Amino acid sequence: MDFSSVDRIIADLETCLETTREVSPTEELLVGVDLGTAYIVLVVMNSKREPVACAMEFAQVIKDGLVVDYIGAMTVVKRLKAQLEERLGRELEKAAIAVPPGTGESDCKTHGYVVEGAGMEVTNLLDEPTAANAVLGVENGVIVDIGGGTTGLSIMENGKVVYVADEATGGTHLSLVLSGAYKVSFEEAEAIKKDNSRHKEIFAAVRPVIQKMATIVKGHIEGRNIKSVYLVGGTCCLTGMETVFEKELGIPVHKPANPFLVTPMGIALSS
Ligand code: ATP
Repeated sequence: MDFSSVDRIIADLETCLETTREVSPTEELLVGVDLGTAYIVLVVMNSKREPVACAMEFAQVIKDGLVVDYIGAMTVVKRLKAQLEERLGRELEKAAIAVPPGTGESDCKTHGYVVEGAGMEVTNLLDEPTAANAVLGVENGVIVDIGGGTTGLSIMENGKVVYVADEATGGTHLSLVLSGAYKVSFEEAEAIKKDNSRHKEIFAAVRPVIQKMATIVKGHIEGRNIKSVYLVGGTCCLTGMETVFEKELGIPVHKPANPFLVTPMGIALSS
């Protein structure tokens, strides 16, 4: 699979964190809200499916994919929505949302209420790796979305989702391990981990956790004819993740240049 077009559109979306593309007052906009364990991200795409604006905020209002602070989550979504509306000069009325695979019906409803409470009608609800595939376009293989608190996976066969799973492991666990190894607070460990120039240095400490994540994925795909693995989600920004996964799974592993914004963009594209 050629990731160059995925890399281009994600790089374009990254620039939309700072800049805003002009939209006409009547043009239909595609909006996605990603309520994550670590970040809440709002993405707006235009009718040509190009990124026009994006805003995000670190927030600990969701845990393992479940809303633990309803008011806090709604306040952040409201704030991000207002920011984007101001930048675009347009009201955002509708949005799609995504949840980790296997999220129960009532928890899905709560995600929806957060976005509705912030003033947007929810037009679609999908699982996160499936949302990522709206960007990746994988026909056959497994998409693994490793976020802050969850690892979701979707197995695709002939362009259709045939299996989904969710595990309570993600970047938070890497930060906890780093916090212990470096004897620093969780927040400092997060900062060290997100500093790409320190990825080589921290790798020995976090490798066992990544190996464990790969083993968990292996358990889900064993016995199936999987020939490719696609890594997305903020945690996959860690340099060398793909090498550990490839070694543990014995299958080619692909990762876009920036795996972080793939799922949020896919949610918007699915609205
Ligand atoms: P979840 O999907 O579990 O609900 P989320 O949607 O918040 O969580 P993402 O936004 O995909 O998850 O990823 C957040 C995680 O990515 C955090 O643990 C964060 O520390 C990690 N992360 C972000 N940037 C980097 C980076 N450059 N290097 C390593 N990890 C990173």
